[in-house]
Amino acid sequence: MGKKKKVALLCSSVVLSMGMMSPVYAAPNGTNPGTPDNQQYSISGFIGHSELSKKLNQIEKSSQGEVNVEVAGYSNQGREIYTATVGSGDKVILIQSEIHGNEKTGTAALLNMLKQLGSNNSAEYQKIREEVTIVAMPMINPDATELNRRGNDLSWSEVEEDFPQLQGSAPSWNYYTYTNQYWDYASNPGFDVNRDFNPDLNYTPKAEDFPGDSSMPGWYITPEAQTVRDVYKNLMTEFGQVDVFVDLHHQGEYYVEGTDDKVTLSISGDFVPDPSSEEGSKYSQYSDTYNEELSKQLNVAAYDALQDRGNSPFDNITLYPQNLDLPGTALGSFALNGSGTVLFEVTGQTQSYGQKKIGQLVEAVETGVYGIIKGVATGDVYEINPDEYDEIPLTDRDQDYGL
Ligand SMILES: [Zn+2]
Repeated sequence: MGKKKKVALLCSSVVLSMGMMSPVYAAPNGTNPGTPDNQQYSISGFIGHSELSKKLNQIEKSSQGEVNVEVAGYSNQGREIYTATVGSGDKVILIQSEIHGNEKTGTAALLNMLKQLGSNNSAEYQKIREEVTIVAMPMINPDATELNRRGNDLSWSEVEEDFPQLQGSAPSWNYYTYTNQYWDYASNPGFDVNRDFNPDLNYTPKAEDFPGDSSMPGWYITPEAQTVRDVYKNLMTEFGQVDVFVDLHHQGEYYVEGTDDKVTLSISGDFVPDPSSEEGSKYSQYSDTYNEELSKQLNVAAYDALQDRGNSPFDNITLYPQNLDLPGTALGSFALNGSGTVLFEVTGQTQSYGQKKIGQLVEAVETGVYGIIKGVATGDVYEINPDEYDEIPLTDRDQDYGL
């Protein structure tokens, strides 16, 4: 199958947002163009932050010591951001969900998986717990979850208070201040947390690095990105590296390229140009750690696990647009630090689907993530031919995009 190269249109004036249940709007300040969409939706099938806290507590208790839940940090509005750890192996798999508060199936999938990973006593699951350490961070942007929106709940003046050296600087390019019929960022402004990461894990904000743009690293100005960064750094200290990083998102509705089939899920392991290539030369300091091959193998492991399920909806899996340069995403920053990386972008808007469809989408995420976990636990993932990645079907998608 030929690989058709797609060129990402990334410019400083564009905030790329394709969240499920999050139609994108033209914003008054011109920083958030997109397709107006009047769809209404229900989020009644998903949980809020207080229910997350309860469920994690229940899972920890019923696991009889297999799942360890801790508070890793707090959102800007003071909500707990958790880690739930299961397993004691040398290989580390960090999985986060809901960095965009309106992209919710990943959280449901993680809770199901934690329950299973903590309580299943089959030989297979015992082996997983022996071989890998799984650190789940569900709902890492809980203030956005409560507002059912993409951005967190943090103003530029609060950022200036936290970082006095930024007083008088232009706010970062990923700062939302517009209002529309669904979201009121004017009263509650916020940031796209998934542009606030920096491959320099010790970076501190400098005025000259603002406002930045999508092809430049972020700054760790948001408490949510700081918390994930701190967890990542602590794992690096403890284990030497974070072998795998998985980030669970949603996108709009698309078709499998060359077909009339709707995409269930898109995956990717490509967020920055290879530091060893000419295109990626600005990242050359990371050329020894960046591991494109492992990212490809992990994506193939997820893809194969879904293919093994057979019929639709689990076989309509595509590659997310490739050849991106998004160093401010958690995936981009952590890939440069040596993690094998996998993006999940579940399709669509919940209002067009019933509860059954939501259940299938959650199951698709679980199936793909289990493919990764089992591949790492057995070692099979390291035997996968990375070139199989380039044979995963592409998405028919002809617009700007971001994750
Ligand atoms: Zn997202």
